[in-house]
Amino acid sequence: MEKIKMTTPLVEMDGDEMTRILWKMIKEELLIPYIDLKTEYYDLGLACRNETDDQVTIDSAEATKKYGVAVKCATITPNAARMTEYHLKEMWKSPNGTIRAALDGTVFRAPIVVKGIEPCVKNWKKPITLARHAYGDVYKNTEIKVPGAGKAELLFTAADGTEMRETIHEFTGPGILQGIHNTDKSIASFAKACFNYALDTKQDLWFATKDTISKKYDHNFKDIFQEIYDEEYKEKFEAAGIEYFYTLIDDAVARVMKAKGGFIWACKNYDGDVMSDMVSSAFGSLAMMTSVLVSPDGVYEYEAAHGTVQRHYYKHLAGEETSTNSVATIFAWTGALRKRGELDGNKELMAFADKLEKATIATIESGRMTKDLALITSLKDVTVLNSEDFIKEIKKTFETL
Ligand code: NAP
Ligand code: MG
Repeated sequence: MEKIKMTTPLVEMDGDEMTRILWKMIKEELLIPYIDLKTEYYDLGLACRNETDDQVTIDSAEATKKYGVAVKCATITPNAARMTEYHLKEMWKSPNGTIRAALDGTVFRAPIVVKGIEPCVKNWKKPITLARHAYGDVYKNTEIKVPGAGKAELLFTAADGTEMRETIHEFTGPGILQGIHNTDKSIASFAKACFNYALDTKQDLWFATKDTISKKYDHNFKDIFQEIYDEEYKEKFEAAGIEYFYTLIDDAVARVMKAKGGFIWACKNYDGDVMSDMVSSAFGSLAMMTSVLVSPDGVYEYEAAHGTVQRHYYKHLAGEETSTNSVATIFAWTGALRKRGELDGNKELMAFADKLEKATIATIESGRMTKDLALITSLKDVTVLNSEDFIKEIKKTFETL
């Protein structure tokens, strides 16, 4: 069989620990035998980030802007323990944070739904994609622990010196204070990323905040979304037969629980943090969650939502067998290959991505899976496979399709 040709390279960001092991197996077993794989390779493994003073991460983000599509392996975000483990020169920043800042992107997370791994919410039949605004609010706050009586004020000094002042509270005793912000630019980027992603995946878009209580702050999010929708997206949505609507966050939560799924739920930063963990755990497993970073100008970076699975890696290093689930990492590759195919008009590449996803799902639905899924499946008589054998079983299924 002739290998599928690629015209434009994918930006390949290698990573750390167990996911780095899976990365290599996926390429060798599931990709290279079928595709004349063209990638521009960046090693985001912690050793290389340290050697290059993290320049490799910045270069990989720039390459993503240039080519438009990247696929990323999970990476270690250094903490104190990693400083000694990897003899780091500095506590390098999270690569995801660096890439997100460079692309000004929004993160979309969606579960991979298979028969036999049932969501806890029984009416959820299709995936719910969570879009989380990744800038500002409580994540960039300024806080004061108020020691005692006094007056708290909100003061803005404009560039020309004009002041705007509001009383927050007259304290009669100790308490707490918090200042948060966001920018119209960041909110507009978030809105555009959501509208583009909805069009791209042909799914309805829901957006919710607490604008009835937060009449300026949250209301500003609502207004920016609505303006951009009316000006740039309304006609496109109507043509695609999809819907955008805004509702209150409490109403959204109630409706999500009763919905069938198959839509995108856009959330402010904090709501997105909390709700994405709720949605992903209700769908079954972090190992079945994909994640894609989309920039407002249509650049895509695909990855798994989970980390480097450190515990399994140490077992692997000790020579023990592991049963690590590679599904989300496989879907990061198929997502990137499909998008590359779409941008290049490469139908074969798109069909390959579809077929590999189908083979992965069919393998699990036939009862062959890793341990994490075996623990939660409703299927009977399952075969628990180790990390490598699971990938080999997917390859076998792929060859029969
Ligand atoms: P993790 O790698 O997501 O793993 C946490 C636990 O979840 C694992 O120990 C395992 O449970 C289970 N798990 C996650 N993915 C799995 C898979 N594919 N197959 C089977 N089980 C899976 O999170 P972590 O241990 O907190 O973090 C490890 C490293 O990853 C950290 O250095 C962190 O900085 C990094 N991280 C990176 C990213 C990213 O690059 N996007 C995201 C998150 C974390 P059991 O041990 O019970 O089997
Ligand atoms: Mg969280």
